[in-house]
Amino acid sequence: MRTGQQYIDSLRKRDIKVYLKGELLESSTVVDHPFIRGHVASAAMTYDLAHDPRYEDLMTVKSHIDGRTINRFTHIHQSTEDLLKKVKMLRMISQKTGTCYQRCVGFDALNALYTVTFEMDAKLGTDYHKRLQAYLEYVQDTDIMVAGAMTDPKGDRSLRPGQQADPDLFVHVVKRDDKGIVIRGAKAHMTGMVNSHEMLIMPTMAMAPEDKDYAVSCALPVDAPGVIHIFGRQTNDDRKCEGDMDQGNARYGIVGGECLTVLEDVFVPWDKVFMCGEIDYAGLLVERFACYHRQNYGGCKGGVSDVVIGAAAVMADMSGYGKAAHIKEKLNEMIHMAESLYACSVACSAEGKKTASGAYFVDPLLANVGKHNVTKLIYDIDRLAQDIGGGLTATMPSEADLRSPVIGKYVEKYLKGVVSVPTEHRMRIGRLIENMTGGTALVESMHGAGSPQAQKVFYSKLSNLEHKKRLALDIAGVPVAETPKKPA
Ligand SMILES: Cc1cc2nc3c(=O)[nH]c(=O)nc-3n(C[C@H](O)[C@H](O)[C@H](O)COP(=O)(O)OP(=O)(O)OC[C@H]3O[C@@H](n4cnc5c(N)ncnc54)[C@H](O)[C@@H]3O)c2cc1C
Repeated sequence: MRTGQQYIDSLRKRDIKVYLKGELLESSTVVDHPFIRGHVASAAMTYDLAHDPRYEDLMTVKSHIDGRTINRFTHIHQSTEDLLKKVKMLRMISQKTGTCYQRCVGFDALNALYTVTFEMDAKLGTDYHKRLQAYLEYVQDTDIMVAGAMTDPKGDRSLRPGQQADPDLFVHVVKRDDKGIVIRGAKAHMTGMVNSHEMLIMPTMAMAPEDKDYAVSCALPVDAPGVIHIFGRQTNDDRKCEGDMDQGNARYGIVGGECLTVLEDVFVPWDKVFMCGEIDYAGLLVERFACYHRQNYGGCKGGVSDVVIGAAAVMADMSGYGKAAHIKEKLNEMIHMAESLYACSVACSAEGKKTASGAYFVDPLLANVGKHNVTKLIYDIDRLAQDIGGGLTATMPSEADLRSPVIGKYVEKYLKGVVSVPTEHRMRIGRLIENMTGGTALVESMHGAGSPQAQKVFYSKLSNLEHKKRLALDIAGVPVAETPKKPA
């Protein structure tokens, strides 16, 4: 297993093309760019914590392939206990970083592909699972970070991939020969991509027969010829080029350092191709990945919320209203919501089932309900944090003002809360609340792992409304045969 430092050193050796604010970055220094280094430090925690004896049980596990101890982020879940430990691990890491550490996306892609390639081979006689197994062994051997690349730009949402005016708005195969395939298109919102070693491409939705070239899944290095990454902007990101205080979470940043990854005729050898034209399995892969990924959110957002709740409570204490009844009530409300999110992730893990491949899969209904709660409750938790934090979290002068020999004394004097607390400390907590409850962080809760409607479609399909109707009819003593089958 790599350490955090070994992980960072290995990233410097890539020949990666990252554009940021229109400029191509020097590849060996991508990890040092002020916009990127926090995300790298956050991902490095997934490596360092695997060497910390306190977290050995959560962060490491025996490989089901050869029994070696591996980092859990490269593991295939072998039991419901593995699923539970994943959620606990995510909450624990989030409590330390206060933000995303990005590595779960590739972890979920590996597990989803493991189950789907097995079922595909059993039905179609293909050999994708063997290839995936070999790739998995490579990932476990090298402990690399793999970005999970599902979301296509999608263009006009009312049109299917092949109906778009521009065929490249969904990643597709443009050439096949005896050596491999060539793919073209782009993947959007790519978490941790610029600080990963490889990416796992998956289709973004179920495919129709005419979309055969779009049903493609494969692995490739992030610095493969033809791959270009365009780094995304975030709320207040220029502050990263200044001192650390105004950032709020200077060590680990906000969310996962997302980018737009362009694939301009990229060659992928057959041994790294895990789906190529099997349209019937594209939808299944999307569903499996989405459910594994939605399982995470009560873990990671539970941990992030622990930090937000702590920050709000500290701000109340520092400002002299920590003992007020309505503040305690609001903090309790926040705790209730955070634990409710966590409970869904625990529940969908505990209710997980073995798939044909032997890997365990979460309960899809509960995983989707959990992620759907995240799209609402995080907004409520953050709303209460902003309520408790006060207007300061939106209007505070800068660190430079605090340090100014001319006006610093005014900032010091007028931003003071209780006398015993240095003004700088109160400002730091205010900035943390601003950082954690602001634009980029909130949008991730809404759209990360799929927009709310995607979860609603899932749980309405799985919840079996007809069964619920029959329960009611039975208890009310109404014969089932006498009720209309469909609403009039
Ligand atoms: C911070 C962040 C990190 C992310 N990280 C990753 C990652 O690492 N890997 C990855 O693969 N993806 C990632 N995503 C992408 C995420 O899965 C998508 O944002 C999500 O699936 C929504 O897709 P979209 O952004 O294209 O929005 P859209 O699909 O455009 O959705 C916008 C709205 O339009 C609605 N809508 C969309 N299509 C239709 C339609 N046909 N009919 C009716 N309504 C429609 C949606 O329900 C939604 O309300 C990330 C997203 C964010 C915000």
